[in-house]
This record gives sequence, structure tokens and C-alpha cells, in this order.
Amino acid sequence: MNFGDLEIHTVSDGFVHVDAGGPFGLVPRPLYAPEYPPDESNSIPMALTCLLVRTAGRTILIDTGLGDKLDAAGQARWRLERPDGGLLEALGRLGLSPEDIDLVVNTHLHGDHCGGNTRRVDGRVVATFPRATYMVQRMEWADASHPDARTRSTYAAENFEPLVREGRMQLLHGDTAVAPGVDCVVTPGHTHAHQSVALSGAGWHGFYPADLASYAVHLARLSWMTAYDAEPLETLRTKAHWQPWLQERGAWIFFEHDAQLPVGRLMLSGSRFEVEPVDWPG
Ligand SMILES: [Zn+2]
Repeated sequence: MNFGDLEIHTVSDGFVHVDAGGPFGLVPRPLYAPEYPPDESNSIPMALTCLLVRTAGRTILIDTGLGDKLDAAGQARWRLERPDGGLLEALGRLGLSPEDIDLVVNTHLHGDHCGGNTRRVDGRVVATFPRATYMVQRMEWADASHPDARTRSTYAAENFEPLVREGRMQLLHGDTAVAPGVDCVVTPGHTHAHQSVALSGAGWHGFYPADLASYAVHLARLSWMTAYDAEPLETLRTKAHWQPWLQERGAWIFFEHDAQLPVGRLMLSGSRFEVEPVDWPG
């Protein structure tokens, strides 16, 4: 869809199934189950929805999904499903090849957000998007490079280290304008230097929160957050800051992991925030 000078598409790397305790952390099951009914193994689907933005002659990809480097055991652990292929097939349906991507923004370096940054060719790990500059916050890269017991399984060096070594990873210091109407904004909590992307064109506003609000309900309810948030109270403060910003602008919010409500707007219903779905062609 076009908004002023911005052309925006959601591009899917497929979806996985995760134990609902991951996305909902300390939220009791009787509260989340009516919203996102788990299956018999207590799993819920988790989408891997990336965003493609074209503006000012640049083609920008925001997050890269889980990628293709997982072995069969890894794919089975995630219960990965790609009925329409992965991210590269989704880009192909828009007529785009990996060479067409100018810029890749990583919201953070957890494996389900940057796994597609690189791929394995003849045993070597190389950039999936050979012409692209990649961007992530410097402090996120520092955290990813020194994982702890909680983050070791999700920060895989092969997803970012080859890019840093080759000088293709631009390390950002705080909020950064990427292109006209495309701004990286630091939204700490899920990780210390997690970033979201604010979009604007011709009076329209969009927002890609990534794991600031993995599912729509996370944005509406301040106290709902994932089990993986590094600083849960910081997530709460960051969401409290962005809720009125999003509601006042009627921003279209693209939820990276929400399979049942992929695009929505934050509305006030009485004194409570709710996310209302937006009809999105994809
Ligand atoms: Zn995630």
C-alpha cells in the first residue's frame, strides 16, 4: 500500500509454534487463553512478519525472520511452517531479489528477527542481501556479542558477526532517521537497546513495534509482556510512553508475531486501550 512517498508491504518468513508461556510470561493462562487459545500442547502460533518499505529510491527491509540456517532439529523445535515459502519467496512475489535490498534494519538480534540476515553457501556464512547495509543499535550488538545464560540460545553470532566483520553492519547510537518518513526509535525493555520503526507519509503514521509488543494485546495491556524481556519494568515504561503517541495519531501498527491480528490501531474504549484490526491487503 502507498502512503504519500512510502510504499509498504508485509513480507512473511512463515510462522512457528511456541509455548504460550514464552509470549505471555507471567500472565496467568486463564487471562491469555481466551485471547489466544493454546492447542493441546499449550502452543500458540507466532508469525514471522517482516516489513518492506520503499521510499526515496531506497528499498528497506525491517527484520529478516528465522532464516534458512536451522537444521532439521532446529526447525522441528520451532515447529516452523512456510506454506508459501520463506522471506525470499515473499520478496520474490513483490518482484524483488536479494540484490534489490539497500538497507536492512534489525530491531534486535534475537534469532527470530535476524536469522535471515545471513545464509550458508558452500559451508560459509554470507550476507543474504549482498548489496545491503544492515543497521542495529550498537548496545544491542554489544549485548548479543556477550550473551548470558538467559540470552545465549537466541543470540547466534552467525546472524550478525560476519556482517560486522565485513563492515556492512552500521551500529547506531540512539534514534536514527533512516530515510524520509522512516525512523528507528529506541524502545528499551525486551532488550536494553531494542528498537522499533516509526513510519510517516502524507499525514499517515505507521509503527513496527517488534517485540515492544509482539502480539497486539501486549500493546493494549501494559503489564503483559514476554518471558524473555530483559527489563520488564522498562518495557512497561516504554509502552506507557508510546501508547498515547500511537492512539493520538491513529497509527497503523504492524505486529511482527501476531498471526490473528497482524495490523491494528490502538483505540481508547472508555479508559482502556484496545487494538482494533485494520484491513490489510498484505
Ligand atoms: Zn521476537
